Amino acid sequence: MSGPIFIGAECMNQEIFDVAIIGGGPAGLSAAIYAGRAHLRACLFEGMSAGGQMFNTSTIENFPGFSIVDGPELSQKMEAQVRQWGTEIIYSHIAKLKREADLFELTNYNEETVLARTVIVAAGSIPRKLQVPGELELAGQGVSYCATCDGAFFRDKDVAIIGGGDSAIEESLYLARLVRQVTVVHRRDALRATKDLQERAFANPRIEFLWDTTVEAIEGHARVEALRVRNVKTQAVTALPVAGVFIYIGMLPNTAFLEGLVELDEYGYVVADESTLTSVPGLFAAGDIRTKDLRQIVTALADGAMAATAAERYLGKRGF
Ligand SMILES: Cc1cc2nc3c(=O)[nH]c(=O)nc-3n(C[C@H](O)[C@H](O)[C@H](O)COP(=O)(O)OP(=O)(O)OC[C@H]3O[C@@H](n4cnc5c(N)ncnc54)[C@H](O)[C@@H]3O)c2cc1C
Repeated sequence: MSGPIFIGAECMNQEIFDVAIIGGGPAGLSAAIYAGRAHLRACLFEGMSAGGQMFNTSTIENFPGFSIVDGPELSQKMEAQVRQWGTEIIYSHIAKLKREADLFELTNYNEETVLARTVIVAAGSIPRKLQVPGELELAGQGVSYCATCDGAFFRDKDVAIIGGGDSAIEESLYLARLVRQVTVVHRRDALRATKDLQERAFANPRIEFLWDTTVEAIEGHARVEALRVRNVKTQAVTALPVAGVFIYIGMLPNTAFLEGLVELDEYGYVVADESTLTSVPGLFAAGDIRTKDLRQIVTALADGAMAATAAERYLGKRGF
């Protein structure tokens, strides 16, 4: 294994890191604060902007202690707190991670590498896209991937949910408490969601179903106004007027760079519980990237704290 030849002033001076954190969303930032406070030699690698999905959320209404908090502002505050505790943030995307002997080697897209004794993967996941016209253009203007986050903006309005799995139906039930009407648009004639969820959704007068239907386009000027939908049996194309559309056709965890190294579940998430321990000693998984029931900022923050503490214990047992 070659020595480190990396990017970033502080990082270049480090022979081998105690902890390398991949991903600067809430999970990674929390891990970086805890690692800094534990006086570990730590470095955080972020491929885009500190804050992750939180940075892209304009209004957060469920962060305890703040009735409303601005996502970019919260991200900047957490980033400043990371630097305050001495963990450097390096803006670089990690393309490859491998383990040899007791060390991890991280490689970025420029083929630059760095070595670490432990790694916390906090690279998150991204919602699978519908890939139809209007989706990107109207993102945040009625197109959403998170009902918990954005549902309150659609009080007493009509919205559509795309999907037929557990998430789509759970979120339909959640939205039905807020909005006037939820239309579940599903490409088949039966749901994949569990029976209990199905029964509750079918019994809810505010939820209706558009079966055998796919979305061709999301339409609107500056905000979502309608979906153009196609019945796959009759091929009839019609307009469904809605103020918002929530897309639940699955998530894509950012685990491509981990394949072959660590155990992933059938959906590609890193297998780990609240302890954040993975199938690989010294490798910890925090936040949305790991198998879990609730993917939110507070659960990601808790994971980051757990992962840094677990890394500290791991290093302590080995005399570092
Ligand atoms: C639209 C929307 C609104 C939301 N609103 C809320 C809300 O109101 N309240 C709430 O609690 N939750 C909300 N959530 C969920 C919440 O944002 C996530 O649960 C949380 O951000 C997960 O944190 P994370 O650190 O695990 O991952 P992310 O926030 O996804 O951060 C992962 C980071 O890793 C980086 N990264 C990925 N791969 C690499 C790599 N190979 N190398 C380097 N960096 C990499 C990414 O650039 C990203 O910055 C919302 C989600 C969405 C999509």
